[in-house]
Amino acid sequence: MEIMYKSTRNADLRVSASQAILKGLSDDGGLFVPTEIPALDVSLNEIKDKSYKEIAYLVMSKFFTDFTEEELKSCIEKAYDSKFDTEEIAPLVKSDGMYFLELFHGATIAFKDMALSILPHLLTTSAKKNNVKNDIVILTATSGDTGKAALAGFAGVEGTKIIVFYPKGGVSPIQEKQMVTQKGDNTFVVGIKGNFDQAQTGVKILFNDKDLEKELSDKGYQFSSANSINIGRLIPQVVYYVYAYAKLLANNEIEENEEINVVVPTGNFGNILAAYYAKCMGLPISKLICASNENKVLFDFFKTGEYNKNREFVLTTSPSMDILVSSNLERLIFKIAGNDDKKNAEYMNSLNTNGTYTITDDMKAALEDFYGNYATEEETSKTIKDLYEKTGYVIDTHTAVAANVCDKYRNEVDNSKKLLVVSTASPFKFTRSVLNSIDTKYDNLSDFEMVDKLSEIANVKVPNAIEEIRNADIIHNNICEVDEMKNVVKSFLNI
Ligand SMILES: *Cc1c(COP(=O)(O)O)cnc(C)c1O
Repeated sequence: MEIMYKSTRNADLRVSASQAILKGLSDDGGLFVPTEIPALDVSLNEIKDKSYKEIAYLVMSKFFTDFTEEELKSCIEKAYDSKFDTEEIAPLVKSDGMYFLELFHGATIAFKDMALSILPHLLTTSAKKNNVKNDIVILTATSGDTGKAALAGFAGVEGTKIIVFYPKGGVSPIQEKQMVTQKGDNTFVVGIKGNFDQAQTGVKILFNDKDLEKELSDKGYQFSSANSINIGRLIPQVVYYVYAYAKLLANNEIEENEEINVVVPTGNFGNILAAYYAKCMGLPISKLICASNENKVLFDFFKTGEYNKNREFVLTTSPSMDILVSSNLERLIFKIAGNDDKKNAEYMNSLNTNGTYTITDDMKAALEDFYGNYATEEETSKTIKDLYEKTGYVIDTHTAVAANVCDKYRNEVDNSKKLLVVSTASPFKFTRSVLNSIDTKYDNLSDFEMVDKLSEIANVKVPNAIEEIRNADIIHNNICEVDEMKNVVKSFLNI
C-alpha cells in the first residue's frame, strides 16, 4: 500500500515520503502527516527475536513506501552502526518495577541520535530520488542537544553541509564543548551573541530569504532543516517502541498482545507522538503518559482542553523539555479534529496571535489515550536520589521527570500494566544536576571531575562521547552578532 503525505493545513495536498522529507515543513506552514497510519501487520511473537535494524526496516518500509528495499536498508545500515556503543542500539533496563528504554547510546548520548543518525541518509536518498542536484545545506539553531546530534549525524555525509548556531553562553559547558570540537569539513558551528530565540528567529529569516535562496541555488546549494517536525525524524522514532515491546516479549516480561503503558519525558511532543503512531499501527500500548517539567503546558492542556503558552518560561534542570510551544502537537490536533485542515489552521493561528486555543469537548474525548502529569524541580531531584539509593541505577534529569510521573501514575491511577519509561539522555550529559541530586557535597568538583565521580558511584564506564571531548581540540571558534548570521552563512559557503 502506497502511503502519501498531506499537510495539517492543506489536507488536499499529496506528496511522497521522500518529498516530505526533503521539504521538512509544508509551504502552507503545516506539518506533513501520512494519509493513513499503516498496520504493523505481523504477529508480535514473530518479531520478538529480531534486531533493531530488522525492526527499523519493518516499520520504516511501511511509512516510506517510495523508497526501495535497497535504499532503505542502506540508510538503516549507515545509521545504526558502531556510532552506537551497544549492539542492541536501544537496551532495556529493569529497575524498581519500571522498564527503562535507554535511547542514549548513540554519538551524542541523547535520544535525538535515534533519528538524527538516519535523517542525513534519508535526506540524501530523497534528494537523489527527486533529481535534486544541489548539495543540501542544513541550517539549525540549537539550545544544546539537537545541534550536536545533527552535527554528528551529518558530519562527513557526502552532498551535505551543516551550519549550527547556538547562543554563546546559553548552553552547558559540556554541550558547547561537544559542538565546538566537532570534526568534518562539512560542519560549521557558530556562537551568536544572543539567546536561543534570537538564533531560531535568525535561522527562520534565512530560510525565508528569497535572494539568498537564489544565490545558493546559483552555487548549487539549497537549504533544508533537521528539526523535529520533519517526518524523517518522526518515523524512525516509532521503531524503538516496537523494538521495546519485542524485547519485553523476548525476556518473558509480558505475554503476547499484553497491553503496556509508556511514559515519555516530553518537550516538543515528537517522541510521544511516535509512541502514539506505534499504538495506531496496532502495538498493544494502552496509555500514553506525557511527563512534563515545570513548563507544564501539556499537563494543563490534557486536563482542561486549553492550550495556553502565555505563562512564565521556567529554566529547569531538564532544559531539553523547557518548551512552551510543542510543535508536534499540531499533528495530534489535526487528527482529533477529524483531519480537518481548516479547523486545525484556525487553532494554530489563534496560538500564533493570542498564544492560546481551546479544543471542543468531542476532541477532548478523543484524547483519552493520553494522560498528562508533571514533576517539580524538587521531585525530579528526589526521584534521581531515591532510585539511586534503592537500586544503584542512575538516571538523568529528563528521564527522572518521566520516572516521577510514572510513580504518580502507578500509585494514583493504575498499577495493573507494565510501564515502559523512555530514558532520553545519559546521566553523563547532565552530570552536575544528577550528582547534586544524589549529594550536594560533590558541587565543588569541576565538570570532568564530576564525570569521573559519577562513573565511580554509578559503576558505569564514562561514555565515549564524553571521553572524546575531554582533551579534544577546539575546531570551531566562531562568534557573531545576530545580524551577521547571513554573512556568516555566505562566507562559509563561499558565496
Ligand atoms: C529533545 C529531548 C526531549 C523531548 O523530546 P520531544 O520529542 O521534543 O518531546 C526529552 N529529553 C531529552 C534529553 C531531549 O533531548
